[in-house]
Amino acid sequence: MSDPRDLLGLTFPELSASLQGLRGAGAAAAIYRDALVRGRFVPERHGLGARAVAAWCERFRIGMPSVVELRSEPAPRGGETAKAVLAFGGSPARRAECVRIPIGARRTSLCVSTQLGCRMGCRFCETGMSGYRGDLTAAEVVSQVVWANSVGWEPGSVVFQGMGEPLDNFDAVLKALQILHDPHGLGMAQERFTVCTVGHVPGIRQLAELGWKRLNLSLSLNAPDDALRCALMPIARRWSLAEVKSAVAAYRQRRNFQLGVHYCLIPGVNDRPEHARGVAEFCAGLGRVMVQLIPYNPGSAPIARAPTADEVAAFVTRLRGHGLAVRQRITKGRSVMAACGQLGGASGPAG
Ligand code: SF4
Repeated sequence: MSDPRDLLGLTFPELSASLQGLRGAGAAAAIYRDALVRGRFVPERHGLGARAVAAWCERFRIGMPSVVELRSEPAPRGGETAKAVLAFGGSPARRAECVRIPIGARRTSLCVSTQLGCRMGCRFCETGMSGYRGDLTAAEVVSQVVWANSVGWEPGSVVFQGMGEPLDNFDAVLKALQILHDPHGLGMAQERFTVCTVGHVPGIRQLAELGWKRLNLSLSLNAPDDALRCALMPIARRWSLAEVKSAVAAYRQRRNFQLGVHYCLIPGVNDRPEHARGVAEFCAGLGRVMVQLIPYNPGSAPIARAPTADEVAAFVTRLRGHGLAVRQRITKGRSVMAACGQLGGASGPAG
């Protein structure tokens, strides 16, 4: 007898295809919905007799993560930024983090991890400095959303921007998207997902091939030329900015698509006037772009200090002066190592 399969790693059609000869198969839709929406697997709740319950438990289970640590801080515009360090599969070694980010007064987004650490090695990122310890499975990615719902976080959107480069774990991320989107479970619409990449060119192209026209994409740019990008982000040695630009340009699948371009502002490194001009040149020809300016969050091995409010404002003004739409990210969760670039830090697995 093989190990029970995790319901959080299955789409409903996959579950349906694996029910042959199973007692109580008629309860599959209710059991699946209960697992994905409420994070529980209790087949007896669905009118099944003892033998059917035993048969279900032999074949299936639900892999909810356990909470290692939970930290939060009030967000500047209301609500709380909260970071959960989660352990998967009952193994303390399989730890990753997810962050609840308040957006305005009532909405929240959940930033999920896709890998245990990361092999991209971005120098401004705590996760990158902690190294790579493996991939999360699709079920483990999904379980972060299911867990968040079960504790009342109820995110309106999910951002694949936590620990790991999502497109470096493409198959699991794709499967997680399909499961979260499945109308028999959570039924989350495509536009509620954003995949954020540091410029994994084959992954962007594969994502485009899915044909999910409403799936959001963000590029973590951080430097407008190859030399500086290579110094900050080792992945840039594999794919030049020209290749990245060509891939994101081809990703556009609907007229009102807006590409997110993230720029982590690091004082003395990428904040000069020519850098702002370079960002504008990169964005030219890409259609609607929203530059998300993220003030650098120093981690345990900082490469610079955090920019001052004046430095951030000056760079925003320069970008806008070049005609770019810019949103300045309010730093959230810095004190609990939950801000951008801080996951896997002092309170997390990288320790
Ligand atoms: S910024 Fe993203 S891709 Fe780069 S090291 Fe950090 S987690 Fe990995």
